[in-house]
Amino acid sequence: MSQDADQTTTDQLTLQDPTKRYPSIEPPATPLPGTGLDSEMTPKADLGEKSYRGTGRLTGRKALITGGDSGIGAATAIAYAREGADVVITYLPEEESDAQRVAEVITAEGRTVKTIAGDLRDKAFAATLVEQTVSALGGLDILVNNGGKQVATDGIEAISDEQLEATYDINILAMFRLVRAALPHLQPGSAIINTTSIQAYQPSPTLIDYASTKAAINNFTKGLAEELAPKGIRVNAVAPGPIWTPLQPSGGQQPQDLPEFGKSTGLGRAGQPTELAPAYVFLASPESSYVVGETLNVNGGMPTP
Ligand code: NAD
Ligand code: MG
Repeated sequence: MSQDADQTTTDQLTLQDPTKRYPSIEPPATPLPGTGLDSEMTPKADLGEKSYRGTGRLTGRKALITGGDSGIGAATAIAYAREGADVVITYLPEEESDAQRVAEVITAEGRTVKTIAGDLRDKAFAATLVEQTVSALGGLDILVNNGGKQVATDGIEAISDEQLEATYDINILAMFRLVRAALPHLQPGSAIINTTSIQAYQPSPTLIDYASTKAAINNFTKGLAEELAPKGIRVNAVAPGPIWTPLQPSGGQQPQDLPEFGKSTGLGRAGQPTELAPAYVFLASPESSYVVGETLNVNGGMPTP
């Protein structure tokens, strides 16, 4: 069976064996340059282009998704559009081709999409990003803080100041700034969803900088949820397990670990990005009206506290 998952057409609402929904992949031990492009991944990942079926759960909603060009953010953007939302996706300039491909899928749904390149480390970017989103979509009621950086090293002594500061800037400080910029626009019923990780509970020795930002995101999610609940704005998080996205082969794992990626989960395989999308849809949709400050784990069976 081919390991490529991007041609999958069976939708997420069809009963199937979760151990076999996607093949157990064995990626080559070859790193991708830079932050990695979805279009250069081997094997291909499923972003839900042909497999995510919408049921109208986000009709008329307006969403901003950071890191929406590839991986989990792209799968979420496609799912949101299929559920009836208009979407802004952000990404780094070098990921323009991935972003345009996601935009094509969304446009084909008849939804509005705007692509905005920029660096989440740039303090001014958060404010302009929110302004551009509001003018493109006519408002904002879903913020998905998803963009992130993960670089595996041999341990703390191999983590440079540059890597440490970039990881904290992108993964956690940018969330504070984006929420601050977005809040004046968020009405009751709006949702904020942060991407955390299994690493928040089970830190790998190769990822201690990254893992500690993810623990911070869980705590930030709970504190912010308490602050904003009285305003009718719900804040929650999604904690993915091992998901096959460009982040992993572009330095997120050490190359020799790539062939085994995801095999130690209960389901025995890595997750595909579109398998995360229903969690982001649920937490954005009014059906989760009483879910506040929660971290929804989507990890193929890795016990969490
Ligand atoms: P991905 O590489 O597809 O997405 C991450 C995105 O972050 C990139 O596409 C990029 O656009 C964006 N980004 C990185 N640096 C940036 C910067 N300086 N400025 C602006 N944007 C920047 O990988 P993904 O796995 O889908 O990652 C999405 C989120 O999921 C991340 O927060 C990641 O930590 C989290 N996560 C991933 C996994 C996994 O196994 N893939 C597991 C747990 C958590
Ligand atoms: Mg990308």
